[in-house]
Amino acid sequence: MPLHSTAPRNAAATTAAAIITAQTEKQAGYKKRKDVKGTVYLLHFSQKYHHAGHYLGFAETLENRLEQHRKGQGARLTQVIKDADIEFECVRTWEGTRDFERQLKNRHDARSLCPNCRQERSEEKKTWRANRKTQGEN
Ligand SMILES: [Zn+2]
Repeated sequence: MPLHSTAPRNAAATTAAAIITAQTEKQAGYKKRKDVKGTVYLLHFSQKYHHAGHYLGFAETLENRLEQHRKGQGARLTQVIKDADIEFECVRTWEGTRDFERQLKNRHDARSLCPNCRQERSEEKKTWRANRKTQGEN
């Protein structure tokens, strides 16, 4: 009878839907993590490793993450930095999400975000101006 068979089928469908929802929520775990607020941080290396002079990352607990980096864990780049005996310091932090980290990474210009490098740059300019002045006087 159609009426009798419809009811159990619906019940089964509901159960299946519930299972699917549960699975989807599990799979969506990453998406939810994107909304987790944490700290976006910028590491400045004491010297460049190939072309890399900075590392931009995200951490829910910054201190733990920095500790990991110091041990050469947590990211490939900070691992090779440690192996190359290059030191780093955390020069800037922002409160934000992984999305914000992504936005900053997409700029591909960590140097312009770095207070150390901006300072260096203005020092370079001063030196350049001073040299130019000296040359002019000669
Ligand atoms: Zn820098």
